[in-house]
Amino acid sequence: MIPTLPDTQKTRTGAASGWMPVIRLVVAMTVATLLTGCGDAEVNSALDSDANGYVCLGCKAQFYTDRTVFPTRCPDCKKQNFEQAIGYVCAADKHTTIGPRGRGGMACKQCGAITTGLSIPREAELKAWGATHRAGPEVTGN
Ligand SMILES: [Zn+2]
Ligand SMILES: [Zn+2]
Repeated sequence: MIPTLPDTQKTRTGAASGWMPVIRLVVAMTVATLLTGCGDAEVNSALDSDANGYVCLGCKAQFYTDRTVFPTRCPDCKKQNFEQAIGYVCAADKHTTIGPRGRGGMACKQCGAITTGLSIPREAELKAWGATHRAGPEVTGN
C-alpha cells in the first residue's frame, strides 16, 4: 500500500490560498463601513475652515479662535469642559445649525427637522451663530 498522506497534505496546502478572497472581502467591508458608518469621515473631508469654533458645555460660552489656535480651556469659566462646534446641515432646506460635536443630529433651527449632514463652520457662520473671537492667551494656559 502506498500511503496517500502526501497527497492529502498537498491539497491542504493548496487550500490555504483560498483565504485571499475572504481577506479581500473583509477589507472591502471595513472600507465600506468607514465610508458610510461614521459621520466623522464626512467631517474630516470638510475640514476646510478658516476658524475653530467651540462651545463650552459648562457656561455655554460660544467662541472661536484662529485656525492655528487650539484652546485648552474655556475663556470664560476657565474649565476644560468644552466641545468643538460643528455645523449640522438640514437636508430639506440646507440650513446649518451649529452645535457641539458628538451628536447624531440636531433639530434644524429653521424648519425643526432632524439634521443629517455635517460641516465645519467658517468664521462668518460662527459669528452669525453668536460666537466671539478669542485670542490664544485667553483660551490656553492655566
Ligand atoms: Zn465655560
Ligand atoms: Zn431645515
